[in-house]
Amino acid sequence: MEVSKKDIRALSKKDLETFFIKHGVPSFKGSQVYEWLWQKGLHQFDLMTNLSKAHRALLEAHFTLNHIQIDSQQRSVDGTLKNAVKLYDNFIVESVLIPTSKRTTACVSSQVGCSLDCSFCATASLKRMRNLNPDEIYDQVLAMNRQSQLYYNRPLSNIVFMGMGEPLMNYSNVLSAIDKITDPKGLAMSPKRITLSTSGVPKMIRKMADDKVRFKLAVSLHSARQEVREKIMPFAKSFTLEDLEEALLYWYLHTRSPLTFEYVVWKGINDKKEDIQALVKWCKRIPSKVNIIQYNPIDGTQMKQADQSVLEDYINTLESQKIKVTYRRSRGVDIDAACGQLANKIETKGNG
Ligand code: SAH
Repeated sequence: MEVSKKDIRALSKKDLETFFIKHGVPSFKGSQVYEWLWQKGLHQFDLMTNLSKAHRALLEAHFTLNHIQIDSQQRSVDGTLKNAVKLYDNFIVESVLIPTSKRTTACVSSQVGCSLDCSFCATASLKRMRNLNPDEIYDQVLAMNRQSQLYYNRPLSNIVFMGMGEPLMNYSNVLSAIDKITDPKGLAMSPKRITLSTSGVPKMIRKMADDKVRFKLAVSLHSARQEVREKIMPFAKSFTLEDLEEALLYWYLHTRSPLTFEYVVWKGINDKKEDIQALVKWCKRIPSKVNIIQYNPIDGTQMKQADQSVLEDYINTLESQKIKVTYRRSRGVDIDAACGQLANKIETKGNG
């Protein structure tokens, strides 16, 4: 009977060492394989040149090595590069490489689709099909690091979990991927250059603080008023602002790492004085800065960005209260690569 083989990247370094010992091979071969997999990012046993033919055959006999494939690419007039990433079971997710004069940022996906229902986000129209595995998240970073070298002659400078999916709904796989990305024996990137963006799952924010993670946290706030927030982000009925605030204070007390609130201003939704005042109050209670994001219109909704004068009012009021605020222009809008636009319009269905 053909037993289906396990994916080798589901094994820890310790598991790899144990595997070799069990087969009468010195354990250091396990750490060599770990480096091939997670530092050099190899996708073939055949290329592991410090392993004998017999050892490579041993791996081949016991494991598969699933990996992503770049199915297609689109390049924006502003240089932003969107990758359609094919997974081993044919699902497609999207990853975006965003160059500026000083930085190259990789925006990675954490789930196929999303289980949340934010009314302004195109990914919400796709059902959540499954979580990405750690290696699938790692592979997106690896692929975009190579693209960054190829097109811009420099390595990735930043990684943001702002692609498809809610990273805190796939917590252990996201953390395990970040481990490999930051491990000196892996891609050795600094955790300070990684930002995880969440819609705000209080229980998991507390868990991150307990786990002493070292990356940065951004929260998609969009309104500091419960009745407004739950209209545009319906899951916020269960994850209330009150719970979110408690969790964020817990995060700050334990990590001392300041927070960023992502915020889009929509006409007729959160463009009133009381919305601005609520945000000011909120930010005064939680050490933070605000990142106002340009709204990227998506199909199937009438939502519109607020008038420029309202955006200016937000910015001036926050600044006058000594709250840091930045305004982020969208990148890659012409190829549907900007925030909230990732919904793989390419027709592909997984086997799952
Ligand atoms: N689920 C995570 C990460 C994905 S979205 C989260 O909610 O944070 C990344 C950012 O894009 C979030 O701040 C999200 O609120 C924002 N966003 C979603 N749709 C958008 C749109 N149409 N225009 C601008 N920003 C959008």
